[in-house]
Amino acid sequence: AATAALALGGCSSRTDEGTSGGTEEGFAADSSIGVALPDKTSENWVLAGDLFTEGLEEAGFKADVQYAPANNTVPEQQNQISSMVTNGAKVIIIGAKDSAQLSAQVEQAKQSGAVVIAYDRLITNTEAVDYYLAFDNFKVGQLQGQALLDGLAEKYPDADTYNIELFAGSPDDNNAKVFFDGAMEVLQPKIDDGTLNVVSGQTGFEQVVTQGWLAQNAQSRMDTVLAGNYTGTELHGVLSPNDTLARAIIESTRAAGKPLPVVTGQDSEVESVKSIVAGEQYMTIYKDTRALVQAAIDMVKTLQAGDEPEVNDTETYDNGVKVVPSFLLDPVVVTKENAADAYADNDTLSALTK
Ligand code: BGC
Repeated sequence: AATAALALGGCSSRTDEGTSGGTEEGFAADSSIGVALPDKTSENWVLAGDLFTEGLEEAGFKADVQYAPANNTVPEQQNQISSMVTNGAKVIIIGAKDSAQLSAQVEQAKQSGAVVIAYDRLITNTEAVDYYLAFDNFKVGQLQGQALLDGLAEKYPDADTYNIELFAGSPDDNNAKVFFDGAMEVLQPKIDDGTLNVVSGQTGFEQVVTQGWLAQNAQSRMDTVLAGNYTGTELHGVLSPNDTLARAIIESTRAAGKPLPVVTGQDSEVESVKSIVAGEQYMTIYKDTRALVQAAIDMVKTLQAGDEPEVNDTETYDNGVKVVPSFLLDPVVVTKENAADAYADNDTLSALTK
């Protein structure tokens, strides 16, 4: 109970509701739970909102699920979190729009006695994050890097060097750098030994980011890179950090009248799964949103009962001030070859593989 009390900021009010024996600290079983999600740049965020509302209410909680609107996103998300605190939320689950801009709000949440869970994206530069819940982001990057190498070897069996380009996600999302670092752990040695040639020369994270994870930003950078470096030179592969950007990169290549390179992705978005099945996009990552939301709701139930949630990683996610205890789920790599298997438990996605 000591650790649970600590996790609750030491100032949660004692209630016997929902606890057997009443020996632990917890909170009322019908408490309000806040869920602050970023803008809807990927399908996974849209799905998560619906699943949180359903799942929390089914579990007996009041669900206060908010999205940061597309304009003025950071201040709006800050306001939403403050309102959740004012409304007495006992747990606040946050998918940060900007990982580094929420310290004041999460500190306010801690002072009120709420537990703060960073969902999918880490919240940086503050003590006031209790748990981090995500798919293993570094591993996502490693899988993307390895898949790019595999895809190149498959598509160009006679080549021993390949021309590639690199894309990363939005720099205000802590995940973007982690994905990129994971991928570069695999790709950098192959760049160093000359197997991979980044023709544009743009290999630094800052050079390859995509502000806001917006498709149009990836597409226009791709247009420029192609026009400047690939007249008379073939592009063989592109590291794309997610599906939305992968489709923009493919679109740009098509508009330029070039052959399609091997393109990576992430999220298993419907249009990208179709593209993979059609032999266009090479791969994606399956991060089952249902499992991540369920893990978050399980964590809430555990906290409600006054127990300490399970974590499986206490070393990796240093937010600049502390290493945040994390529960990480395993991402799955998906290509045309294993798509039917990988999505077997998901009706929507498996229907696309038939
Ligand atoms: C998520 C990715 C998603 C991206 C853009 C990241 O933080 O982990 O799954 O593609 O945000 O929404």
